[in-house]
Amino acid sequence: MDVVLFGPPGAGKGTQAEHICKLLGVTHISTGDLFRNLDKESELGKRVKAIMDEGGLVPDDVTMEILAQRLSKGDVDSGVLLDGFPRTSNQADELVKWMTPRGRTVDLVLAINITDQEVHRRLVNRRMCRSCGASFHMIFVPPKVEGLCDNCGGELYQRGSDTPEKVQPRIDGYHKWTLPMLSYLEKKGFTIVHIDGMNKPNDVSQSITSTLREEGFIQ
Ligand code: AMP
Repeated sequence: MDVVLFGPPGAGKGTQAEHICKLLGVTHISTGDLFRNLDKESELGKRVKAIMDEGGLVPDDVTMEILAQRLSKGDVDSGVLLDGFPRTSNQADELVKWMTPRGRTVDLVLAINITDQEVHRRLVNRRMCRSCGASFHMIFVPPKVEGLCDNCGGELYQRGSDTPEKVQPRIDGYHKWTLPMLSYLEKKGFTIVHIDGMNKPNDVSQSITSTLREEGFIQ
């Protein structure tokens, strides 16, 4: 089964992706993570980081090349959960081109919805662990020791793109590029299911589980 996970930055896609992958037994692929894991000293790594820090979109050709490399690994055969991809109609077309000859299709598009105000509130207060990638919220999920990760003791930092001045362009970009993608995928006949992401992570997970059950994807 292949799933596409949609949602604005800060909607909790990372947390929910883990939950969905466990439920469905599919592999999580986040294009944002693929980009963040590029060698920071390489020309490509520097170029991509500059785009991400500005809240822009990495060009389609670069995105497709990096995703294609990831999709060439064996762990994608039993299904993938694509997180943060596709973000443009061109990427959606490329995805279909990759899937069709392999007898695969996007079985489900899950869209986690939160308001713009909530995106702002979540992102500017978000801190990430440099070592294990765990995320904290300075007001709602603060670390026990300031500046240090509860899980591994790693250093917490704010992503360059989570500063107040960078968050608004990301929200604008979501409306401009990513949201139209939902209607595009709907027109292509894919099943789109909307999830309310405004609740606590556990409640959102439960609502995803119920929805997957109602739609017949799990028992
Ligand atoms: P995310 O972790 O999904 O919020 O992505 C972080 C950043 O990576 C985005 O703001 C974009 O700059 C870039 N990015 C991630 N996925 C894509 C994509 N499919 N196409 C273009 N840029 C992307």
